[in-house]
Amino acid sequence: MRRLRGVNSGSWLTNVSAVLSRLPSTFIRSWSPESDLSRQLFPEAENGNGKLKLENGSRIGVIGSGPAGSFFSHFLLDMTRRFGVDVGLDLYDPRDFAVIGPTGCNMCGGIISESLVQMLAAEGINLPTTVVQRGIDSYMLHTDMGSVRIDTPLHEKRIAAIHRGTGPRDIDAKDIKWFSFDRFLQELAVDKGARLVRDRVDTISWQDGRPRIKTRRGLEQDYDLLAVAVGVNSPSLKLFQDAIPQYQAPQSTKTFICEYKLGPETLEKYLGDSMHVFLLNLPRLEFAAIIPKGEYATLCLLGEDIDKPLIKSFLESPLVRKCLPPEVPPEPPPCHCSPRINTYGAVQPFGDRVVFIGDSGVTRLFKDGIGAAYRTAKAAAETAVFAGISREDFRAHYWPKCREIDVDNKIGKAIFALTRIWQKRPHDLRGIVLMVAKEQADKKRAPHMSMVLWDLFTGSATYREILWRALHPGFLSRLVWNVIVGHVSLIRGKLP
Ligand SMILES: Cc1cc2nc3c(=O)[nH]c(=O)nc-3n(C[C@H](O)[C@H](O)[C@H](O)COP(=O)(O)OP(=O)(O)OC[C@H]3O[C@@H](n4cnc5c(N)ncnc54)[C@H](O)[C@@H]3O)c2cc1C
Repeated sequence: MRRLRGVNSGSWLTNVSAVLSRLPSTFIRSWSPESDLSRQLFPEAENGNGKLKLENGSRIGVIGSGPAGSFFSHFLLDMTRRFGVDVGLDLYDPRDFAVIGPTGCNMCGGIISESLVQMLAAEGINLPTTVVQRGIDSYMLHTDMGSVRIDTPLHEKRIAAIHRGTGPRDIDAKDIKWFSFDRFLQELAVDKGARLVRDRVDTISWQDGRPRIKTRRGLEQDYDLLAVAVGVNSPSLKLFQDAIPQYQAPQSTKTFICEYKLGPETLEKYLGDSMHVFLLNLPRLEFAAIIPKGEYATLCLLGEDIDKPLIKSFLESPLVRKCLPPEVPPEPPPCHCSPRINTYGAVQPFGDRVVFIGDSGVTRLFKDGIGAAYRTAKAAAETAVFAGISREDFRAHYWPKCREIDVDNKIGKAIFALTRIWQKRPHDLRGIVLMVAKEQADKKRAPHMSMVLWDLFTGSATYREILWRALHPGFLSRLVWNVIVGHVSLIRGKLP
């Protein structure tokens, strides 16, 4: 019981069962007294073959304290503590999330998907009202063929709208009512015992088989395990790629985000509690959304290399103008940025004593990146605590989680390709809008299309689940019927 010392015998079984109840099913399935997992949980049964694993006194370095880094630190410290393993964890990030404007912000639309809100609640992490600025209860789908409102399938406000930083560039300090989501997560990690180091990691090298980091301020430190969570907007990814040759950074493309300061009354009048989603026939634009928050509305444009002409065409579109007050000029407001978003996951995001999580590893295509950061961070922490920290451990236990997301993204790419075709075919688009409108007007109808679109735009379900739903005979027959009605009504010039 060497590793379990420090845990009193009365709470020992409770601790093990509490942790086991939170393990993924693959771990549970692999459990047996002789299995690898049991040897890892009870190391005295191990044959002492020099396996790379965490033990008392191990030091862990986490680079980046966006969602991935903070979730990883929180879970790893929680799990090691439950097993009585005493490790030290340093969490590096130069960003101070208490600072107003871009320097304190990790640039994002700020939607926390329903599935993530639920998973966090199951972990005992409830998002406070000082962080959640608005509960989104519906979305408005705007297309060239009409607009339609889709309510939350279960009529609950479960999507949370947040700001990643303390507030946009033009916020008055006296108007700050909500706190940064990333700061909230960082504090969760610090509460579990992470040591926050406000410094940028500039180099990684290897010393006797252990990763060594050096920061901008000259701090040097060796670690037993390094978790890299620097996202895709950091030039550091290139450094890490050089130090860990088997790793290839994810591919990414440029997006656009801006923050409109509208005030609560105007927000209520123009946007309400709905996220406004646009499917417009603009080349290279995959998806656009306006998300109401407390005082601001966040506009996000996702697609392929979003540039100034595309932003201009979008902002000048009459459908977009209708969602904003007339006094707002069709130009980007003072707080705007062009962060990158992943289009392909990293190649081999792990090695001996190193693992890449969140955007630096694999994330969901165009959706729920924070949810993917949670999943990859938790899977990496579970692997490090229960399996080991060698390349083979990460390959066996961490990589399957990443591959699941990767495969799902391939389905997502096919779904987005289909949406692009719809965007260019007004008659079909009309049929889709009609189908949603009928479903929303008659609550007794099965909401086939509403559910597909809800999950597609909110990121609440996997792309695989969306595809599965779209293959339902009821969905397909209604779609064909509504597309025919859409064609006929357009030809006759009658719009039902
Ligand atoms: C336009 C746009 C809209 C989006 N909208 C949403 C949305 O509505 N909902 C959603 O779930 N996801 C959304 N995402 C995706 C989401 O932003 C990311 O998936 C998520 O932020 C990934 O978290 P992360 O921790 O991996 O990386 P990041 O959030 O990028 O965090 C990386 C951290 O690493 C730090 N760092 C970088 N380099 C170093 C270094 N050398 N040393 C120390 N620290 C370093 C940075 O300061 C930063 O704090 C959106 C993305 C884009 C581009």
